[in-house]
Amino acid sequence: MGGLSAAATLATNGQRVLLLEKHWRPGGYAGSFVRGRFEFEIALHVLSGLDLEGKRGSLYRNFESLGIMKRVDFVRVDNFYKAVYPDMEITVPANREAAEEVLVDAFPHESEGIKRFLDRMAATNRALALLTRTGDISQKEVKEDFLAYRGKTLADVLYADVKDAKARAVLSQIMGYFGLPPSQVSYIVYATAYDTLLRYGIAQIKGTSQTLSNAFVDIIEEKNSEVRLNCGVKKILTEGNRVKGVLTENNEKILSDYMVSNVNPLTTCAAMIGVEKVPHSFFDNLQKHEIAVGTLNVYMGLDAPRQELGIDEFETFINLGYDFDANWSKSRISVEPADFAVATYNCAYSEASPPGTTIMVLCTLSHAQPWYKIPPSEYVATKNRMAEKMLERTEKVYPGLREHMEVVEVSTPLTNMRYTGNPGGSILGTPYSPNNVFLDRLPQEGPLKGLYFAGAWTQIGGGFQTCITSGIMAAQKLMLEKMKKG
Ligand SMILES: Cc1cc2nc3c(=O)[nH]c(=O)nc-3n(C[C@H](O)[C@H](O)[C@H](O)COP(=O)(O)OP(=O)(O)OC[C@H]3O[C@@H](n4cnc5c(N)ncnc54)[C@H](O)[C@@H]3O)c2cc1C
Repeated sequence: MGGLSAAATLATNGQRVLLLEKHWRPGGYAGSFVRGRFEFEIALHVLSGLDLEGKRGSLYRNFESLGIMKRVDFVRVDNFYKAVYPDMEITVPANREAAEEVLVDAFPHESEGIKRFLDRMAATNRALALLTRTGDISQKEVKEDFLAYRGKTLADVLYADVKDAKARAVLSQIMGYFGLPPSQVSYIVYATAYDTLLRYGIAQIKGTSQTLSNAFVDIIEEKNSEVRLNCGVKKILTEGNRVKGVLTENNEKILSDYMVSNVNPLTTCAAMIGVEKVPHSFFDNLQKHEIAVGTLNVYMGLDAPRQELGIDEFETFINLGYDFDANWSKSRISVEPADFAVATYNCAYSEASPPGTTIMVLCTLSHAQPWYKIPPSEYVATKNRMAEKMLERTEKVYPGLREHMEVVEVSTPLTNMRYTGNPGGSILGTPYSPNNVFLDRLPQEGPLKGLYFAGAWTQIGGGFQTCITSGIMAAQKLMLEKMKKG
């Protein structure tokens, strides 16, 4: 997403761009694959920033100016999420007032704390919007509702407002979207996303995110620019402290004084530029950052409509218990799946799969390290065993799935790594910890002149909306430098 949006922004602003993609299809995680008669979405559960029914969100405005809105249809999903725990379940609507009612109804003894926390997240979100619009950090709201929470985790803030462990879990439920448990994830990131999704709901792409990636390619190619697939970059050529071009995997030399790398900074610097040419300070900064978590996914094509299977919600979370921190810690040392999300794409739009069928994807956070320890001879059996465990737990919520399974595919963090080159199969680059948010993340300016980064590893973070924004920002910085140079 970062590379495509950078290229589309540059091309629509009169620059001639050549986009080089290693894979045979564009998009990285933003794509699809086909098994049997099913086309599976690889990644996207939740697209934020469109706000289809409210005031147009920032992603909507960016998509409009790039020409995406003319090419891709989006749908809004009504409910925010359904959360299932061993002894209760709850569905949170995507509407602030209705959600508050449901939450207070479920936890009447926590009504004040719940309202206070929802109000607090809304205020933080408003303050971020104000800051983005004005850039003025001296405003009272920006100081009190946003800057005051820098360095705070979700747990720091939520647990002061809400004491009941079950209510805390329900309100922390989407922590998986940010790859960290409540005691580690940035409150600011969580609150701004939660409040936005709560108000405007989840958007889904009609088709899959491959449709979005292909639309970016069309825009680039219509503007006198080119996209080459099956064309990986092996080396970045340099002259002094400037980039000069690239050497492709086919040994073709392509010269350019400017480039945006959507390849993670570790590989870009160590393998493509060469450690000796990168200033130590850049690596020192890189080493201060951890690698965010990957995913274990079970993609299922079912030969019955979702209504017959009793599936009513797009996103269902199936949890082992209420302590997300404990479950997350276990996933650092084991391939065993903990809590997971179940996305049923036909609930977002009925044509997600052929008539009379359903596409369902189970997705859990999974670290690469425990997978590295599995011997290659046991890898397939292990991933299938983990998938079986997730399926068993899903069947307790939606019985009878197994009888309707036509196609199943399982991916792990190693699959993510293989297809995108992201270290650890990370889906978010570096983790969304309180000291690694927005502009605190790795800079977009690379270690050599003319080189910029876009994508999950850099500002402003991992996820579709953020990576698209990072591409736009990288393109703007590049054009500014080019203008200054004359
Ligand atoms: C299962 C899953 C679920 C997710 N769910 C959501 C969600 O619901 N909402 C959300 O917002 N985000 C979600 N994400 C995260 C989101 O998909 C990513 O953060 C985002 O798409 C990453 O984009 P990126 O720009 O960093 O590039 P990447 O997707 O990492 O792509 C990098 C590209 O670089 C190419 N490349 C690598 N090496 C080379 C080379 N040497 N030469 C040329 N090309 C090269 C790769 O082939 C790839 O196309 C999910 C991710 C996964 C895996």
